[in-house]
Amino acid sequence: MKNEQLFLLPISSLKRVGPTLTSFLTKLIGQNKIFDLLLHKPIRAEKILFCPKIFEVPNDSLIILKAKVESHIKPANSRQPYKVICYTPSGYVNLIFFKIFPSQIAKMPIGSEIAILGHLQKLSGENQIAHPQEILPASQVENLPKINVIYPLGAAISQKFLSQKIHEVLEKIIEKDEEWIDANLVKQQNWLSFGAALKKIHNPQSESDFLPENPARKRLAYDELLAWQIAVLLAKTQLGKTKNLTKSNGNLAEKFLNSLPFEPTNAQTKAIQEILAEINSTKKMLRLLQGDVGSGKTVVAIAACLQAISQGAQACVMAPTTVLAKQHLSYFSKLLENSGIRVELLTSANSSKQKTKILSDLLSGNINILISTHAVLEDDVKFFNLGLTVIDEQHRFGVMQRLKMVEKGKDVDVLLMSATPIPRSLMMGLYGDMDISILNEKPKNRQEIETLVMSENKIEEVYQALKRTTLRGEKIYWICPAIEPSAENSESEIEPTLSNVKEKFAELSKIFGEKSVAILHGKMKESEKDKVMKDFANPHGDLRMLVATTVIEVGIDVSEATVILIENAENFGLSQLHQLRGRVGRSDKKSFCILLYGKKFGENQRHRLNILRQSNDGFFIAEEDLKMRGSGELVGTKQSGFPEFKIADLMFDSDLLKIANKQAKVILNSDPNLKNKTLQTLLKLFNYEDCLKVINAG
Ligand code: ADP
Ligand code: MG
Repeated sequence: MKNEQLFLLPISSLKRVGPTLTSFLTKLIGQNKIFDLLLHKPIRAEKILFCPKIFEVPNDSLIILKAKVESHIKPANSRQPYKVICYTPSGYVNLIFFKIFPSQIAKMPIGSEIAILGHLQKLSGENQIAHPQEILPASQVENLPKINVIYPLGAAISQKFLSQKIHEVLEKIIEKDEEWIDANLVKQQNWLSFGAALKKIHNPQSESDFLPENPARKRLAYDELLAWQIAVLLAKTQLGKTKNLTKSNGNLAEKFLNSLPFEPTNAQTKAIQEILAEINSTKKMLRLLQGDVGSGKTVVAIAACLQAISQGAQACVMAPTTVLAKQHLSYFSKLLENSGIRVELLTSANSSKQKTKILSDLLSGNINILISTHAVLEDDVKFFNLGLTVIDEQHRFGVMQRLKMVEKGKDVDVLLMSATPIPRSLMMGLYGDMDISILNEKPKNRQEIETLVMSENKIEEVYQALKRTTLRGEKIYWICPAIEPSAENSESEIEPTLSNVKEKFAELSKIFGEKSVAILHGKMKESEKDKVMKDFANPHGDLRMLVATTVIEVGIDVSEATVILIENAENFGLSQLHQLRGRVGRSDKKSFCILLYGKKFGENQRHRLNILRQSNDGFFIAEEDLKMRGSGELVGTKQSGFPEFKIADLMFDSDLLKIANKQAKVILNSDPNLKNKTLQTLLKLFNYEDCLKVINAG
């Protein structure tokens, strides 16, 4: 493929993108290849009014004006802006600059004719454009864009910069390139080439180009789904080969189940049977364990690990965060006390001395179960005899990337545990070729969590109620969507100001007392996070309230926590809210989930939050989430909790998913090891290169 080289370059190879910008861009787009930048698609477009009569223009319109510069008014003090007074035949306009550079001043000599692009504000009879997006000599007015394309932004990245970088790449794309989609399908769907489709989604001509039916988006969605389906099938066939079975010489799993302090649910018993049987068979396992939050997946994982150990093998459990890995360590250790099973933890936070010891014990077979994060993927981590890998809380598509784990043993079984129930209607298409066990039942001793939907205006009442909660010795999660106040120059029109943990922490510390409140977010140091989680999990400690971002979304299990409050709840997807809610209701005490909504709250959003009030069933909520999204409710796919694609959207593209599944089978039938270079490129572009490595190794 001709474009391959360009697409696979790192974003740091772009002009004027140094290490700092690289890291901000990577954060924004989630990956660090040029192609990932191209998958960052605009969310809307704004029409630009071309030289309108000023008095006819609605306030805050984006316009292009031709004007004559009359005078510059320099600020008398640092709080005042720099003003440039301009004349147009339909009225005066003041250009306002709170910060101005000499290069900008030079673009507006007095008496000159200029072309301006910016938002026109009408403030007490004055027409203003604050910080125009472009200023050119009037003769170049035709060079200004006709439509303003808006991208989702992240810290330190501006619209202009992002759009420039994307277009810089688009210009280099060769449109006539090798095709990986079946020619008949391309013809039948009337699709553009891959390169042309990429250009098209970044150059929308009108609002309608943002509809899901846009053929350019559809085509790219198909590319993404095809890559996914090929990856799943490859993994399935490569991993599903036969394995050499060491005769099981123990019944550790059985003993463990008999020693549990509680009765396993029927669903747990069934899933454990399915999994143990497969570990005991000559078929390599690739199985997905789907279970609602709190359904007790961890116990199933432990039983699976013990089965592998019974066969003389080692097991590894991978968690998405260090916090969760630590929690697993203490849970595993507690339930496996006196069993003679050695469980160890490996994360990037280990000292090098600890690490050396763990690595050597792992290699000699002295460790039975290793609990880890992605740190285990590093090449120097080697096992004596790895027989099972459990990948926990992997609802994002990292699944395929994590398959690298199978290279670490000769015959490795894989158990994927999914945090988010996926609607049945999607599951078949998505994972149709994977074996699935389902936990659709909760432990019996649970009380239903009561969910309240409230306006943030009622915060005083909430404080009063929470004070009573803390006095009872119970604990509270307080969730905010952001870490810090959004930067001043962020696109506030897109993202209404969201509540953030830093300010909230300060506020709540005053109300509830400093000792009672702690903060937790992803940017904190590992050791700080550790300490906070430990204090919070201590039933006898002073700490009662954790002000956190969604870092606590997955897996955290603190049974004294009985209240979770979520601010700006309207900003989260239903499945994500359900996950968060699952942090409470983990004991026989009555628990509450308080969903606080902000100012921008419409009927649709009320309806969505009410679904959570009505149901505690993750599978039901996932189905409803899917339906709502179909009815035009716009929640970013990122927040929906569904498997995350960048372009494809399972609501609109389930037709394509079916076709992709069929095509992938056809492809692999004739080319089982995917020797086809073009298709290999497809997989690399969509970040399934580890999947390719698995084949090469296998
Ligand atoms: P999840 O499926 O969300 O990962 P966990 O494995 O963390 O759930 O289990 C949640 C809690 O329920 C744990 O404290 C666990 O000990 C407990 N638990 C699991 N199975 C049962 C059961 N059958 N009866 C009672 N409690 C259980
Ligand atoms: Mg869990």
